[in-house]
Amino acid sequence: MSRIRSSAGVVNVHRVVGLALLALLALFVAGCGSGDDDGPASAAPPGKLRVVATTTQVADFVRAVGGDRVQVTQILRPNVDPHDYEPSPADVKAVGEADVLVANGVGLEKWLDETISSAGFEGTRVDASQGVRIRPGSDEEEKDGDPHIWHNPLNVKIMTANIERAFAAADPAGAAAYQANRTAYDGRLDALDADIRRQIDALPPASRKLVTNHDAFGYYIDRYQLTFVGSIIPSFDTSAELSGRDINNLVEKIRTTGARAVFSESSLPPNTAETIGREAGVKVVAGEGSLYGDTLGPQGSDGATYLRMEEHNTRTIVDALQ
Ligand SMILES: [Zn+2]
Repeated sequence: MSRIRSSAGVVNVHRVVGLALLALLALFVAGCGSGDDDGPASAAPPGKLRVVATTTQVADFVRAVGGDRVQVTQILRPNVDPHDYEPSPADVKAVGEADVLVANGVGLEKWLDETISSAGFEGTRVDASQGVRIRPGSDEEEKDGDPHIWHNPLNVKIMTANIERAFAAADPAGAAAYQANRTAYDGRLDALDADIRRQIDALPPASRKLVTNHDAFGYYIDRYQLTFVGSIIPSFDTSAELSGRDINNLVEKIRTTGARAVFSESSLPPNTAETIGREAGVKVVAGEGSLYGDTLGPQGSDGATYLRMEEHNTRTIVDALQ
């Protein structure tokens, strides 16, 4: 923490001037300033690379690639909905001090452009989704496409390659270490991919039907050749309202397709899933231990890391559908 504090000084001068209108933030930043002078935020720091990662998944990838050469500030907390996040003054401060900012991309971080300009961020911005084949979005809110790219481990290999490239450019002395870390993690992603495929392929084909809470699993469904029956929230947007008619339609779809379970997500309230499951007469996987869709779980949970999250999701799906 002392590193964060001691490097805040010069950035603060820059920021407080630029943010005269944001009185609350200015107050916060000034309160933390130490007045020392160790260069602008974009200069290479003497110690670790300062990295801000937006989502829980992206922060996990950043830790995997960066290892002990990076100091990671993760903006989203476990079980916080990334679709309607509002950044705090502390988030803006962290972004202003970062050397590298890593985002998921595909329009998931709707708050990011404004935060970057408020923070006066001058470092390297990484859109981890660059090069990933993006599925189309299902509504106007998602004009950039489906942002849940991490549910295909092969997409994560592209994301970590983007992260490695940015880290090596920002910290050339660490290039070999970043490459070694990324290569080792790639091996684990390949093993995960093979393991998921093996487990899903063991399900009877007629059982491979998913009813999920919101449209978070499209990349997983495509990769492992499941059938998407419907979602409880009929869009990517977790705050979308559901009408009684939507519920009836989904219950009908579950009955006609013979889908065997409804999956909620750990980060979302299970009420609607339970109503639908009851009406359709199928089992409901909800609450703690259901699917990790938009966020990793807290430390110690089955969703504590990306690799564990995907293993957990697969085990949960296979257990419910076989
Ligand atoms: Zn989502």
